[in-house]
Amino acid sequence: MIKAGLLGPFALQNLVSFENTLQKGKDGTVEEPKRSLTVVRETDVIVCGGGPAGFAAALAAARSGAKTTLIELHGCLGGIWTAGLLSNIIDHENKNGIMKELEYRLDKSDAQFTARKYDAEQMKWILEEMCKEAGVEVRLHTRVTAAYQDKNKKIDFITTESFSGREAWKAKVFIDATGNGDLAARAGCSFDLGEPETGRVQPMSLMVILSGLKEADLVKEGFILGLGKDGSPTTEGKKKLHAEILKIGFDTSYSMPSFFTIRPDSIALMMNHQYGVSALDSDAISKATIEARNEINKVISGLRATGGIWSNVRIVTSAAQIGIREGRRIHGHYMLTKEDLLNGAQFPDGVCNVKFSVDVHALTKVEGGGYSNSGVKMEPYQIPLRSLIAKDVNNLMMAGRCISGDFYAHASYRVTGNAVPMGEAAGKVAAKASLSNRVPSAVNWSEIS
Ligand SMILES: Cc1cc2nc3c(=O)[nH]c(=O)nc-3n(C[C@H](O)[C@H](O)[C@H](O)COP(=O)(O)OP(=O)(O)OC[C@H]3O[C@@H](n4cnc5c(N)ncnc54)[C@H](O)[C@@H]3O)c2cc1C
Repeated sequence: MIKAGLLGPFALQNLVSFENTLQKGKDGTVEEPKRSLTVVRETDVIVCGGGPAGFAAALAAARSGAKTTLIELHGCLGGIWTAGLLSNIIDHENKNGIMKELEYRLDKSDAQFTARKYDAEQMKWILEEMCKEAGVEVRLHTRVTAAYQDKNKKIDFITTESFSGREAWKAKVFIDATGNGDLAARAGCSFDLGEPETGRVQPMSLMVILSGLKEADLVKEGFILGLGKDGSPTTEGKKKLHAEILKIGFDTSYSMPSFFTIRPDSIALMMNHQYGVSALDSDAISKATIEARNEINKVISGLRATGGIWSNVRIVTSAAQIGIREGRRIHGHYMLTKEDLLNGAQFPDGVCNVKFSVDVHALTKVEGGGYSNSGVKMEPYQIPLRSLIAKDVNNLMMAGRCISGDFYAHASYRVTGNAVPMGEAAGKVAAKASLSNRVPSAVNWSEIS
């Protein structure tokens, strides 16, 4: 039995009773003892994951009048935007609502030069301010670990682990915005992962921020050549940078290394691919993170040694979280497919208009190490609300990259300019459902839009 005195007076505050001896189970497993947990909150809507989708979901739910809690694993909101150090919002141009409001706040606050790029520190602050203004209760540093259903196939309680130990939370409606579909999987939802034929997944990339470079020099030397048709940096600049790195005796695992200017003297870099890493395997993600940091450090030191425009280049920081392109795709009431993209599908309950093309990063280095549309030429299409409602659990919605879609659809809708409107739609529907004691599938999109 753990003695409270050894751990400090507050260590066990959320555990009503606690035994710390493990029972030996079958096949070398161990069985945790039963625990009683304090229910720390009972609320209308709980959103798990505070990335682009979760932030928007919580904001929309709170603004719709629901008592809303947002639970986030990292010490800041923003997900890939902040803990992941991405600096580039794709497919935001055709969006209204929270996406447009956020662009306005970013522009106004000196966070960026255009609505597309941003400074991650400013982003953290703005997201927190917007949540505070809307009355969202934000819990950082907290990981959702389990979900328990009642007899009506509804999540009754979830549990979390944090500095406060293990806690239980209750809500009428839950939204999974964890990117990897952690909450839905814990609740017992079915899901898909990876390419249909092989299960292979898109590679992971670790973003870094560089100092000691001048945007003007990078443009002059052709390493940044403006933005292409889809708004991403042009491939010519990426090829030139790859060739420059090859000259110093390294090959990058990503053959399209890309600079993104944040400020004239602050540049984000994406230059690695970690292939074949499952978003559900912590050992593999740890190894991938360490390998990625090693590769990037070697290349940056190598470039610095060549002098010229590289003389002062330094890595200011690498992302706290390696960028995970794909995790679980939770089964919903509708699964978006490649055919929907080819046909430019429109739906009566369409909640988000997508224009971004299919973007599959090479699944192995031998497949080129870059990215392509895998032969799927999409037409602008919509995401239906039904893809945001879990099939197997009645009071659960999804938003962001874990919604219901196939491998190719995911490779298009996953970008953050779509995650935000998905979150906004889920938040509004969750609020309406919880305040009218219904399940999300009973809410008609015409009641919201
Ligand atoms: C390297 C890389 C480059 C990309 N480039 C671009 C780009 O240029 N532009 C663009 O728009 N998109 C880009 N994308 C795609 C885009 O970033 C993602 O698909 C996007 O993050 C989706 O948002 P999300 O909110 O669903 O997920 P995430 O941003 O992953 O957010 C999920 C959040 O949930 C939290 N979380 C996870 N598990 C738990 C848990 N169990 N309990 C509590 N919290 C949890 C995480 O900490 C995180 O904050 C890129 C992705 C990667 C990986």
